[in-house]
Amino acid sequence: MAKKKKAAPKKKVAVKKSVAPKKKVVAKKKTAAKKSNPEQALMNSLVELIRKTSAEIPDDVQKVILEALAREEKNTTAEYAMNIIQANIELAKKKSQPICQDTGTILFFVECPRNFDQIAFTKICHKAVRKATEVGYLRQNSVDSLTGQNVGMNVGPGHPDIHFHQHAKSTVEIRLMLKGGGCENVGAQYALPYNELGAGRDLAGARKVILDAIQKAQGKGCGPGVLGVCIGGDRGAGYVHSKEQLLRRLDDTNSIKELADLEKEIVTTANTLGIGPMGFGGKTTLLGCKIGVLNRLPASFFVSVSYMCWAYRRLGITLKGDLSIGKWLY
Ligand code: SF4
Repeated sequence: MAKKKKAAPKKKVAVKKSVAPKKKVVAKKKTAAKKSNPEQALMNSLVELIRKTSAEIPDDVQKVILEALAREEKNTTAEYAMNIIQANIELAKKKSQPICQDTGTILFFVECPRNFDQIAFTKICHKAVRKATEVGYLRQNSVDSLTGQNVGMNVGPGHPDIHFHQHAKSTVEIRLMLKGGGCENVGAQYALPYNELGAGRDLAGARKVILDAIQKAQGKGCGPGVLGVCIGGDRGAGYVHSKEQLLRRLDDTNSIKELADLEKEIVTTANTLGIGPMGFGGKTTLLGCKIGVLNRLPASFFVSVSYMCWAYRRLGITLKGDLSIGKWLY
């Protein structure tokens, strides 16, 4: 009996010993958790967003390009141009290389909750752009406007261009658009009435100037393209809102019926103009048209048109709590 009593403490020691290593493991895990670096996680998420946006056309755009290719007449220059565009898209995706040598303007649109630290985000975003440039996801493409010197790593005043919008959700959504210089050059802004075209201050007038912008872009801007349009606003807000229209999926439907009808009609009419891919003639001049509206002053009526080339690089992500990528948008 006495022997049995003596055995008890031994068992206790054994339990203690078995717990000890577990405690060490727990301690190690805690250390690892402390070391997890949200800045690095955000940086990784942004670099991956840039890589994928630069190399891959979103599915909704790819679908419309394939439909356009099928529509073009066989053995025409238009079909040849569309085939080259399609081959370029496939090759870039396969090799994870930029779709076009023109990096374009780097536009971030960030939807964020209250108390989101925009200054910290901007700093990490600049770091991510530098990294993406260093590894070749982005070409060195940003130039000092006064000296004409290339700044080297795509970071300088206004570049990248980051737009923050607070939303009522707790998530962070980041959309990225790489907008080429050639297509940016054919954007246009009209102040209505525009007497040259007989365009008054109404939807019919807006339609006239939008079609005029398409006519003037022919052979430039690397078509077939997509139009983002804003009716109203001031000159600055109008252009920004027209670019924001390019964040919409190509297969969505405008919630304002008159604009939904106008969007469809513009695409149908543009595709009868015979301008075609790269201006070579054919059935596909426009892949889509998205129109938004802003209030205006009684004294002004602007219609702002942003043109996006076939290299329609636009993707997005939502972040998880640890700032890694949660899901891909589009
Ligand atoms: S306009 Fe578009 S397709 Fe043409 S060079 Fe620029 S990014 Fe490339």
